Formats: sequence, structure tokens, C-alpha cells
Amino acid sequence: MPQKLYRDLCEAAGQVRGLLENLQLLGARELPWPVDTLPLRVCPTGSDAADLVAGHCRSETLEEIRADLGDCCRCLLSQGREHIVFGCGNENARVVFVGEAPGREEDKQGIPFVGEAGRLLDRMLFAMGLSREDVYICNVQKCRPPGNRDPQPDEIMACEPFLARQLAAIRPRVIVTLGRFAAQVLLKDQEAISRLRGQWREYEGIPLMPTYHPAYLLRNPATKREVWEDLKLVMSRLRDSDA
Ligand code: SF4
Repeated sequence: MPQKLYRDLCEAAGQVRGLLENLQLLGARELPWPVDTLPLRVCPTGSDAADLVAGHCRSETLEEIRADLGDCCRCLLSQGREHIVFGCGNENARVVFVGEAPGREEDKQGIPFVGEAGRLLDRMLFAMGLSREDVYICNVQKCRPPGNRDPQPDEIMACEPFLARQLAAIRPRVIVTLGRFAAQVLLKDQEAISRLRGQWREYEGIPLMPTYHPAYLLRNPATKREVWEDLKLVMSRLRDSDA
């Protein structure tokens, strides 16, 4: 066999092996697409065949992303923060919850969703049959905006790439955005959260369900029922993806 053909075959076999290994890492028990429609693409320079998975390059680990973030001062929010609130939970989570930005308690502790809104989120998780250990929780902004003001466009632009990398690393089955800000940033859609919520959307091929922020529920307890409807859709989607 000509050497070049042999090399090409070896490379193709490596790509297939890498794809299968990555699918296994993602929890797949069977190929989710007919083999002849697999959307393989070549990763950028520096990646190898094992990095190919369903058209996506294998991403970094959360630890690598956190290390890259470092003691970040890419935007002005660094100046008033006590802690960077990177995110917490399961690196292999099937669901990622994304909020807006750390509040006072989160900034103090360096953990997302602590305090009263966090306790409500815990109860929402419990109702879904989940705990913090099962999911991953993070925010669009990693540092607390002073006075809990809305993050500014330049601050979002500086921080959002890290969220994008976290989501690429975890590659959950479902993303749940909590509140207007996270939904609008991830969906690039300025629609009101009252219209966005309860409707399936997509972020980089991942189903995304926008719902209200727990802090909003504390102020408007009547909206809890709507959130529960949204979460039921999420649970049903997770069940379907297990089937
Ligand atoms: S908000 Fe994000 S980009 Fe800005 S300083 Fe904090 S970690 Fe860096």
C-alpha cells in the first residue's frame, strides 16, 4: 500500500477513535446520528484527531479555563470585587444554570447563588430531583457590578468568552438561563424575559430554556408557577435525552 494512503487511513482511524472516545466521555451509549451524516470538521491547528466530536473540538477543562482567567482585570469590575465567582458544580453536568452576576454574598464567598436567591435555587433543584452536585451553576459576569447595576457592554464583551468556554467544556444537554440578562446575552435577543421564558431556544446547538431569576421570584412569588412550568419542560427534555 502506498505510504501516503496508509498515513491517511491511520489518520482517519484516529479520527473515528477520537470521536467515539469523546462521545463516550459525553455519556453517549449509541451514535446519535446516522454515521454518514456525522458533521465532522477539522479542528484548528494544535488539535488532534481525538479532539473531534460531533463537529465540535474537544474543549479545555474548567480548571484550565479558570487558570487562564487568573486574577482577571480585563474589565473595570475587577476593581470593586472581593472574589471572582467563576462557577461551581459538576464538570459533567447535564444541566447548566446561568445567572447574571455575583451579588454581595456571592462576591464575599466566591460561590454563585448563595444567600436567599441561592437557597431558592437549591429548592428548585430539589424539586427537579437534583442537587448542586449534579448541575453546574455560573454567571455571565464573574465579578460583582457595584450596587448590583447592569453590567456594561464592554464588561460583557470582556467576560462572556469565559462563559462560552465553560459551556463548551461542559457541553450540557440543557442550559437554563436565570433572568433577563443571561437570556439576552446568550441568545443575542433583547426580547423581554416574560416573552423569552418557557420557549426552547438554542445556544451553540445546546437546547436553552430561559426562565425567571430566583431573586425575581422572591419579589414576585406568583411567578413561581411559571418557573415550575419551565423547569418541567427541562426535566422532560432530560428524560427524553436519557431515553
Ligand atoms: S467581570 Fe470578568 S472580565 Fe471583568 S474582571 Fe471580572 S472576570 Fe475579568
